[in-house]
Amino acid sequence: MDKERQIIHMDQDAFFVSVELRKNPNLIGKPIIVGGSSDRGVVTSCSYEARKFGVHAAMPGRMAKQLCPQAIFVRGNMDDYSKASHEITEIISQRVPLFEKASIDEHFIDMTGMDRFFGCMKFASELRQTILKEMHLPISFGLSINKTVSKIVTNECKPNGEREIPYPEVRPFLNPLSVQKIPGIGDSTYRKLSEMGVRKIKTLAEIPQELMFKILGQHGLSLLQKANGIDLSPVVPYRERKSIGTQTTFENDSMDINKMRAILTGMVTNLTFDLRSQQKLTACITVTIRYSNFETVTQQTRIPYTALDSFLIDKAHDLFNKLYTKRMLLRLIGVKLSHLVSGFEQIGLYHTSEEEYSLYQAMDKVRNHYGVESVVKACIVKPPQKDENNKVIKYNPRKKKVKAEGENEEDGARKKSRIRTFINSDIGSTTKLDG
Ligand SMILES: [Mg+2]
Repeated sequence: MDKERQIIHMDQDAFFVSVELRKNPNLIGKPIIVGGSSDRGVVTSCSYEARKFGVHAAMPGRMAKQLCPQAIFVRGNMDDYSKASHEITEIISQRVPLFEKASIDEHFIDMTGMDRFFGCMKFASELRQTILKEMHLPISFGLSINKTVSKIVTNECKPNGEREIPYPEVRPFLNPLSVQKIPGIGDSTYRKLSEMGVRKIKTLAEIPQELMFKILGQHGLSLLQKANGIDLSPVVPYRERKSIGTQTTFENDSMDINKMRAILTGMVTNLTFDLRSQQKLTACITVTIRYSNFETVTQQTRIPYTALDSFLIDKAHDLFNKLYTKRMLLRLIGVKLSHLVSGFEQIGLYHTSEEEYSLYQAMDKVRNHYGVESVVKACIVKPPQKDENNKVIKYNPRKKKVKAEGENEEDGARKKSRIRTFINSDIGSTTKLDG
């Protein structure tokens, strides 16, 4: 039962900024913005001093500069953030039996049953002090009955805060808060709810189920539960994904270089979409080819952390050019992205322009809705199919729709392409059929 669970949510305060302040204490107390320094860049993280001016993550740097002209822009170093993140996870993993790494600076810890041996609040408080002392990075936590409520508690007591909301206090705690405090309520949902006059969690919690389903579908029902302080999702044990990759064996061996390049482009596009869905960045790309005589060659290169295909496609093509030195048929081609770290807004910390950032967000939205093949690079689109009279066979949207629905039933939440994806983890390698 929900009321018997004890879930801690731990979250670093302004994580990237705090790592920068630790390196350069002269910046403490000043409005600091990580990322967004180039004219068309995006804010990755900002200090609480900058937030007072209305600056927030994912905002165009130009706008941040207007809101807070005295802000100091720092370029940011993903290697430093990943290292700190690993160290924090290490501290937690040595002290708790079950935890989930929710992002680069967030952990959920399931303490259910442990309160019989020691108080959960005391334990969480001591863990927070340990992280503060060892890492010199500010951290907050919330302790409550499930992941959603604990996360809201943390956000309410940030920065440098800690608080417990036990079961009887959950509803009184949630009721007066804005619905925007519920994780998963984005701008468009908030707008819809506002139009209905729903601004406080208390009002949302009292909407009848049928009405909620009519307005927001399944998502609405889940929000209604959260507004009532209910969230049964488990703390998923932490397992670090080291790499993600895909490979294709051709039906007929081929020497068609253009075809190879198009396949590589498609593979990188799909893999980076997966990376972004899992809120991850890669720092290493590997290309493998196998000749028809089974000779297999591989090349890899380190790259700045990214989850954008534009940069990775060029790298994949470069590696392929270096590898394909023999005039021989190929039977297999593969791409792997490794050295993965968690990261989301910072999808391309060093080279994302505002336009590019919005473009990827829009494309991912379409892919999540209509399937991964719904938006592809023009260069990998096959020429139109022709009938026996050499006439182009026209696209039949009704036919397509039936197929899409069928796929949806199979896959559940999200449609994916049928690519072979292999995932290496700490536990060993597994092969799974994506889709
Ligand atoms: Mg944080």
